[in-house]
Amino acid sequence: MLTRFAPAPTGWLHLGHVLNAEHVWGSGARVLLRIEDHDRERSRPEYEAGILEDLDWLGYHADVSGGRQSDRDPIYRDAIEILRARGLVYACDCTRKAIAARDRARGAAPVRASSASRDDELRYPGHCRDRGLPLADGYGWRVRVEPGVERFVDERLGPQAQDPSRQCGDFLLRDRRGNWTYQFAVTVDDWRQGIDLVIRGGDLLPSTGRQIRLARLLGRDRPPTFLHHRLLMQSPTQKLSKSDGATGVRELRARGWTPDQVKDAARRG
Ligand code: GLU
Repeated sequence: MLTRFAPAPTGWLHLGHVLNAEHVWGSGARVLLRIEDHDRERSRPEYEAGILEDLDWLGYHADVSGGRQSDRDPIYRDAIEILRARGLVYACDCTRKAIAARDRARGAAPVRASSASRDDELRYPGHCRDRGLPLADGYGWRVRVEPGVERFVDERLGPQAQDPSRQCGDFLLRDRRGNWTYQFAVTVDDWRQGIDLVIRGGDLLPSTGRQIRLARLLGRDRPPTFLHHRLLMQSPTQKLSKSDGATGVRELRARGWTPDQVKDAARRG
């Protein structure tokens, strides 16, 4: 089995990552380390260096390097080409504001993909599907998502059923600023890098159906196995945030904690 640890270099390593690393390295699978810097505006080299240094200090060593997403542009373009050839991708010039306003005009409550969606996208019913806008920079690129339920068995939570057309609709693969989205980059990478076990926090559970769908549209014949573990919470309703210095591995190191103390705190948290 090959699993992965996939931090975004948009902040320092914190106890939430350590809990994830405990699950990933504790799974017995081989581990690929991938730097998820698809968001070019928020990713910083100093965060990447800090994350790698903290992982090393904690004793988490990867078996395989998955590189950085920012170096994988040709791979993402190849994947877009597969979808384009099947008529499954289209350009869109809708702003979030316009999508929300149309929702309101229809009298629908503003629907979010999920409160925890990484791209924080609204449900997109396909307004630009047939407008024939060019697949070019300056436009969002979306995938056509037809109704249909995706079923999978989470290794911890059991059987799940999600209909991405109801959750998020035609979701973004690339945004108008030219960033590949989390959903697209992670699906392509997990497929192309041969990941067959995905271990991550429960905040990403709502993303799983759409990633399984997208992987199938791309041609992946067997989805990975998924395990979504509990999250460390700051309070009963708020998950741990990257900016919370009190849980940063750097700060804990500076206070003299040992790697084992940090891991214990993450496991107990
Ligand atoms: N890059 C994501 C993060 O920083 C993880 C994505 C995933 O595990 O699917 O949390």
